[in-house]
Amino acid sequence: MARKIVILGAGESGVGSAVLAKSKAFDVFVSDFGEIDERYKKVLMDYQIPFEEKQHSEDIILSADEIIKSPGIPEKAPIISKLKEHNIPIVSEIEFAGRYSTAKMICITGSNGKTTTTLLLYHLLKRAGVNVGLAGNVGSSLAWQVAEKDFTHYVVELSSFQLDGMYDFKADIAILMNITPDHLDRYEYKMENYISSKFRIIQNLTVSDAFIFCCDDEIIQQQMTERSTPFQLYPFSVKQKLNNGGWLDNETLKIHYNEYNFSMDKKDLSLPGIHNIYNSLASGIAGSVLQIRKETIRESLSDFQGVNHRLEKVVKVRGIQFINDSKATNINSTWYALESMEEPVVWIVGGVDKGNDYTVLFDLVDEKVKGIVCLGIDNKKIHDAFDGKVANIVDANSMKEAVTKAYNIANKDGIVLLSPACASFDLFKNYEDRGNQFKEEVRNL
Ligand code: ADP
Repeated sequence: MARKIVILGAGESGVGSAVLAKSKAFDVFVSDFGEIDERYKKVLMDYQIPFEEKQHSEDIILSADEIIKSPGIPEKAPIISKLKEHNIPIVSEIEFAGRYSTAKMICITGSNGKTTTTLLLYHLLKRAGVNVGLAGNVGSSLAWQVAEKDFTHYVVELSSFQLDGMYDFKADIAILMNITPDHLDRYEYKMENYISSKFRIIQNLTVSDAFIFCCDDEIIQQQMTERSTPFQLYPFSVKQKLNNGGWLDNETLKIHYNEYNFSMDKKDLSLPGIHNIYNSLASGIAGSVLQIRKETIRESLSDFQGVNHRLEKVVKVRGIQFINDSKATNINSTWYALESMEEPVVWIVGGVDKGNDYTVLFDLVDEKVKGIVCLGIDNKKIHDAFDGKVANIVDANSMKEAVTKAYNIANKDGIVLLSPACASFDLFKNYEDRGNQFKEEVRNL
């Protein structure tokens, strides 16, 4: 009898897993506790994959030999506890897909910078003519691609939730951007659990595989002294000159290891800010390890167009530059956004607070911010932190109001930056909705 696979969650990764499992002749069933998007329902019907929505039928689910869990379903969901009681193995889509692909896997994780680095590296490899797929949190499902057209390489963005369901999956190149507190609610509020999750990216690396990591990050550096790391190490830094890896030497990016040497002027990078030097170094090292021509690496790092909602320049209205950084959902990413601003800023901040400590922004706000617009339902924490520290601090309950107030405070020059440092669920569907509303209101000015 065919082994039975039950897939929990029928979004992109769940439906992709179902398509792959079906193509490998498993007995497949898909269960989603919410409503399934019509587009995905059609796929399941076309492939004759049985599914249910708005419920979890325990009798069917508990009869599975293996479960593929979508990353959005928390470990604490009742159905997951039941499965654990029954000792039924639970894996992630990436773990499952990895079993059926011989492609080189270049995997990227971190608290911030994952999507930018993933897309930058994807751009670099495409430009070099590599037969590469884009998967994980961005792009389409890895499992789906493996089922339908398998590539020779994949660039895979991995969240900690995906890493949690990975056991035997092996990366060929693992990239770890940084580790700062995020999503702690899903890790019993224990930083060590979140750190362990991120470090799963190096499990199963072999001696010839590459680990590219930010050695300016204290948490990562500490872990590197405690762990055994029998594979090729490529640290990167913007604070210190290294003998091996990638670093910033005054105004030049350098990559050096063994006989390899690469350099590029910092001013030629297309993306602004220190954080993008990290992202460029990580992508450049991965490109060099994959033996991409230096000229192609340079060209790719200098003509990458950037990613929507990440320090995205929207338009200039009567001398004021509007910048959409809606994806900045934590303090660390907003720190980098403010740091990269070169003119006085009116800063739109707020939303659902994730335990933010605003004191780390005090110096930057002091130096660069001339006004704050607090956008959200509960702005008390922002007022407590910044009242009296900037000339103008006002509230707004809608994006329209926020944009108009910011525009008035900016008064003919400088920058209006939306970089909320918070989640978006109080007033918006998600960060994309928040960023899109910002752009629309700016264009309506
Ligand atoms: P992720 O996919 O990890 O959420 P993104 O590339 O989508 O990361 O960027 C999220 C936010 O973090 C954006 O506001 C962006 O400007 C900022 N950011 C990008 N790269 C970094 C980095 N290396 N370190 C800190 N912040 C970053």
